[in-house]
Amino acid sequence: MQTEEVMQLAEEKLIHTYNRYPIVLEKGNGIRLYDTDGNRYLDFGAGIAVFALGYNNKEYNNALKNQIDKMIHTSNYFYNEPAVLAAKAITAASGMDRVFFTNSGTEAIEGAIKLAKKYAYLKDNSTDHEIIAMEHSFHGRSMGALAVTGNYHYQEAFGPMLSGVKFARFNDLNSVKELVNDKTCAIIFETIQGEGGIYPATKEFMEGVKQICDEKGILLILDEIQCGMGRSGSMFAYQQYGVEPDILTCAKALGCGIPIGAFLAKEEVAKAFVPGDHGSTYGGNPLACAAAVEVFNQFNKFNVIENVKTVGVYLTERLNQVVHDYEIVRERRGMGLIQGIELTVNPKDVIAKCLDNGLILFAAGTNVIRFVPPLVITTGDVDEMIEKLRKVLDEFI
Ligand SMILES: *Cc1c(COP(=O)(O)O)cnc(C)c1O
Repeated sequence: MQTEEVMQLAEEKLIHTYNRYPIVLEKGNGIRLYDTDGNRYLDFGAGIAVFALGYNNKEYNNALKNQIDKMIHTSNYFYNEPAVLAAKAITAASGMDRVFFTNSGTEAIEGAIKLAKKYAYLKDNSTDHEIIAMEHSFHGRSMGALAVTGNYHYQEAFGPMLSGVKFARFNDLNSVKELVNDKTCAIIFETIQGEGGIYPATKEFMEGVKQICDEKGILLILDEIQCGMGRSGSMFAYQQYGVEPDILTCAKALGCGIPIGAFLAKEEVAKAFVPGDHGSTYGGNPLACAAAVEVFNQFNKFNVIENVKTVGVYLTERLNQVVHDYEIVRERRGMGLIQGIELTVNPKDVIAKCLDNGLILFAAGTNVIRFVPPLVITTGDVDEMIEKLRKVLDEFI
């Protein structure tokens, strides 16, 4: 198909929920993407923090091909090997005891909310429990996840929302304390807020919330759908805080392109669910789990997290220089390979110009450009990105 035909058909037939850039992507290799007109892009978006291993990774592709030839899908009424291997890998990597696999991030949040409610129900038999979530958070688009997403604009047209959700200010412990009562069953937040603009939780906030949870028997749900899977410089970002959640959600890079998410829990919490409480036709299917298993293999084999640490430090330095050199760049935030710069101009304008210069970046919040590249990038790739970015920023002076 011609490039124009693809774009025209998309505008005619897809429900218009995204404003797309006028580019038709066709294939990728490593951290490069190519469009149908043969243009090449340096990818610092990774399909929104997904494609951690880079494109066209032969071993990953072969693992999928092998599984396709064996069995793509079976029902959860039977056991299958990829699912248990994936479960073993993700529980070991996170320190959680048990996992439920989903098909997306938002479904992982749904499961986490249900599990927290069931756990609380078993304790006191009541069904009016409350959840404390954070302003400017993002947890997904399905009704439960939307209800804990602290963005009025996303919720406005879709009420009534799930009741019993209250919003505190992220990194403001007192605002959490004010909302806690006997009905509170869970506190949910992203260890590093992603869509909201790349805001890491402070250590004091993490520790303070954990203390409240321990004192009151409230579950801590950490959403690491975006910042997990090595992106922060540790397998999960909370591991750098010395605070463990009771329930953890994961998705995006877990399958590196094959749709799979997960919610995990400590044994005591996980056992609140019994057969019949939750389920998914596709969740944890052999193909998706084979992808996750190979992702963990690749992480181990190529020391991906070490790379994130090294290149993350370098990215931090280079972005700090950009903050220093350009008045329109106010601040850098984030860690590892989940970082953002806050601008005084519309980030969408900068991103569009970056695309013209062969660089893919995404916005976050209203005034932030985020950097969530594949986790296998090198310092040389960072140099190339910074060079392109600076060239574009020069046009905004
Ligand atoms: C992307 C994201 C979600 C939703 O994941 P989907 O796979 O898009 O449903 C939830 N929480 C966070 C932190 C995310 O970044």
